[in-house]
Amino acid sequence: MTNKVIGFISPEPDAFQSGAMVTDENRRIIYANTYFSYELNWDLETLVGKSSDDLFTYASKIFFESYLMPTLLHDKKCEEMQLTLYDGNGKRIPILVSTKIDEKGHIYWVFFNASKRDKLYEELINVRRELEAQAKILISMASTDELTGLMNRREINLRAPELINQAKRYKNTISLLMVDIDHFKKVNDSFGHVQGDKLLNELGLRLQTFGRQTDLIARFGGEEFIILLPDTDKVGTKLFAAQLHELMSEIKINNTSVTISIGVTISDGSLNLDNLTKQADSALYMAKSTGRNRTVFYQDT
Ligand code: GH3
Ligand code: MG
Ligand code: MG
Repeated sequence: MTNKVIGFISPEPDAFQSGAMVTDENRRIIYANTYFSYELNWDLETLVGKSSDDLFTYASKIFFESYLMPTLLHDKKCEEMQLTLYDGNGKRIPILVSTKIDEKGHIYWVFFNASKRDKLYEELINVRRELEAQAKILISMASTDELTGLMNRREINLRAPELINQAKRYKNTISLLMVDIDHFKKVNDSFGHVQGDKLLNELGLRLQTFGRQTDLIARFGGEEFIILLPDTDKVGTKLFAAQLHELMSEIKINNTSVTISIGVTISDGSLNLDNLTKQADSALYMAKSTGRNRTVFYQDT
């Protein structure tokens, strides 16, 4: 192997697992160690004398101009930059570069092959992506009721305060509806628990697309649902409740329709979820005790 160099004494073939290169003030390569031949397939005779620009990819050249060179001129050195160079066969190799410049404008380059680092980085990114996807599923599972696909009680407990605070801040109303299926025990007793589950599932599916985006609809437990309607007056809330009764009448179980009772309270945002729930619950109790399949407002009780 002949190691012709300009301005430098050629070293004997060495075993350094890193590239060492010197470029002059015109960026011409005046020295390259034998790493270039045994690891990067460059013929040292053709390499020495070339411009360092010929070694790097277009993006790396831009990076060299816009960041590496200004940093070198300012700090006299620039460490741990990642660039991509071409080996003697035109293959792109990611490298980690540290550089230093002397007063003559000669740049001393040391670099390491960063292919493994890139691969590891890629693997880390993939692992992170997978973890993020799993976290998303877990978050959704923690907030969603499995049978109905609606948000669960935990989630509405977390989200209701913001809606209530908004009502308070903007002096709007907030309506809370407690919905309870009538004689659901009988449904289970007559048609079986699986049919009961089917009915809950069907109701859940329909409720998922019911109302406005800003409404919160949750399965509160068993066959009870809780609904929060921001900025809806009594007329609007009544209409919403009527539509709910209508929706329920469309769901049949063995050709029999099932009814719901609804207890409603409307507040100005001064009551918390717990108090709103208590008021709606007492209205619901009234709806049940006065014949079921109806809506009762707390103010009317
Ligand atoms: P009321 O009109 O007074 O509300 O009568 P009800 O029978 O609906 O009320 P009750 O609270 O006595 O019974 C509720 C029933 O709901 C009892 C329980 O077995 C049933 N239930 C609760 N959760 C589920 C569920 O996830 N699946 C099924 N199939 N049934 C459920
Ligand atoms: Mg109940
Ligand atoms: Mg019930």
